[in-house]
Amino acid sequence: MKQIEQLVVLQKVDSEMITLQRVLDEAPKQLQSLQEKRDYLQQQHDVIQDKINVLLEQKGKIEFEIENDSQRIKKSKNKLMLVENTREYHAMMHEMDTMEKMNRQREEERANLQADLSDLEGRRDALQTDISELSGSIDAQQSTLDKEMSEKRARIAVLEKDKAKASAAVPAPILTRYNFIRDRIANPVIVPVSEAVCQGCHIVITPQAYIDLQRGEQILSCPNCLRIIYWERHFAETEAE
Ligand SMILES: [Zn+2]
Repeated sequence: MKQIEQLVVLQKVDSEMITLQRVLDEAPKQLQSLQEKRDYLQQQHDVIQDKINVLLEQKGKIEFEIENDSQRIKKSKNKLMLVENTREYHAMMHEMDTMEKMNRQREEERANLQADLSDLEGRRDALQTDISELSGSIDAQQSTLDKEMSEKRARIAVLEKDKAKASAAVPAPILTRYNFIRDRIANPVIVPVSEAVCQGCHIVITPQAYIDLQRGEQILSCPNCLRIIYWERHFAETEAE
C-alpha cells in the first residue's frame, strides 16, 4: 500500500512535469511568429530604403548639374558684355539658351524624383512605425515569457526533488516497471480502478484481479493497457488533494 501510494505521488509529479515541459516548449513559438513578422516588415523596409538611396543619388547628381550649368550661364552673361563680334554674340546666346533649356528639363526631372521620394519615404515611415510597435509588444511578451519560464523552471526543480524522494521509497524493480511503461505509453502510468473499470483504458478487469486489487497486497497491472493500477478507494484522499 505504501509503495502504491508513493507510485501515485510519483505519477502526480510526473504528470505536472509533463504539463510544465509542454508549456515551456510551446510558449516561445507564439513569440517566434511575431519575430518572423517583424523580420518580414524589416525586409520590406530595407528594400524601400535601398530604392530611396538610389533616387537620392540621382537627385544629387541632377542638382549638381543644375548648379554647374547655372554657374556657366552666369559667367557667360558677364562675358556677353565684352563681346564685340556679332557672330560670337549669337553663338554665346545660343549656348546659354541650350543650357537654360537643359536646366528646365532637369528641374522637371528633379520634381518627378522628389514626388517618388516622398511616396517611398511615406511608405518607409509607415513600416517603421509598425516595426516599432511590433518590437514593443515583442519586448513586453518576452519579459512576461522570461518570468513565466523561470517560474516554471523553479517549479520543475522542486518537482525533481519530490520525484527523487518518491522514487527512493519505491523498490527498484517496481520503479523500473513504472519507467518502462512511462517510456512506452501515453501518460498516466498509474491509474485508479473504479467499479472494476481501469481508468487508463476504460476496460473492465477480471473479478479476481479486482478482488486482489482491493486487498492491496501486491502491485498489479491492467491486463489490457499494462498501466499500474490501484483501487480508487485506497487513495480517495490523495486524489482529493
Ligand atoms: Zn487498462
